[in-house]
Amino acid sequence: MTSPLSPPPITMIDQIDNHRREFEEALTAASRPDDLKDLRTRYLGKKGHVTAILKDLRNLPPEEKRAVGKLINDLKTHVEERLQQRTEELAQQGAGSKTSTFDTTLPGRREPVGTLHPIMQVMEEITQVFVSLGFDVAEGPEIESDYYNFEALNIPQDHPARDMQDTFYIGDRVLRTHTSPVQIHVMEKQQPPVRIIAPGKVYRCDSDISHTPMFHQIEGLMVDEGVSFSDLKGVMNLFVQQVFGAGTGVRFRPSFFPFTCPSAEVDIQCVICGGDGCRVCSRTGWIEILGCGMVDPAVFGFVDYDPEKWTGFAFGLGMERIAMLKYGINDIRLFFENDLRFLQQF
Ligand SMILES: [Zn+2]
Repeated sequence: MTSPLSPPPITMIDQIDNHRREFEEALTAASRPDDLKDLRTRYLGKKGHVTAILKDLRNLPPEEKRAVGKLINDLKTHVEERLQQRTEELAQQGAGSKTSTFDTTLPGRREPVGTLHPIMQVMEEITQVFVSLGFDVAEGPEIESDYYNFEALNIPQDHPARDMQDTFYIGDRVLRTHTSPVQIHVMEKQQPPVRIIAPGKVYRCDSDISHTPMFHQIEGLMVDEGVSFSDLKGVMNLFVQQVFGAGTGVRFRPSFFPFTCPSAEVDIQCVICGGDGCRVCSRTGWIEILGCGMVDPAVFGFVDYDPEKWTGFAFGLGMERIAMLKYGINDIRLFFENDLRFLQQF
């Protein structure tokens, strides 16, 4: 029954099967709307595979045309349905702009997590020590008047103590040279008992291996009835043990500050050599960490506290200095260079 003009129907059925298989493969690989458009042209266009194979249908004997014709129609319907389906899938995957090679087993990308600057860490630690002793945290402005930065702290215009601090002036204002003005602000607003610490930035016109134009201090003030120097010693001693470890030696040396009397500087046993003497402690075995004293009655005069009734102590310490001792850092400028290799160690 077969003739050279009518190839055996098995060949056409094979062709249809091949087209179907190749179409499925191409469809799986299609990842963009444009890929689907190309596929549609390739199979259903005027010169497409389905159209071409339909033309071959006329070469078949009539009794086979019907069966093969149905197979071709099935292929056409299949291609149309699958293209429609895939178009919707791609639209769902986000406007079809991404590939479908998404591996859900891959670990997610982590956002790098930062840490607090070492100065902030030390500041928080010290703040916590005093908060646990019942001190409140107070704040004040960084731009101050001469009155709060100097005068109300018993440092009059011609007082030699003004030379101790290299002040930045802005017109008739100053960048505060210490956190002590916060004492005045607090006492103006509040009657004793007062128990505050005031952490914050201070400014001095100074820059070298151990000084920066801006640095951080914590001020402390306690005023109540019957507060004595031994209270001050007790609080300072406890602070040192908490921050530098139990058993750290502490000593008080007489000193001078205009706003306290008597005044003292507090030394701790050298944290580098343990008191044996090294370069850091200039072979003395001791390192100065803060200044303190009993509030001068003259300061109470500026805030209308009765010095006959109230007594108090005040102290101030530099955060950078504490952080340098605590972490063994020998150049204060490292804190402000923002080198991540340095900061990431804390
Ligand atoms: Zn030492």
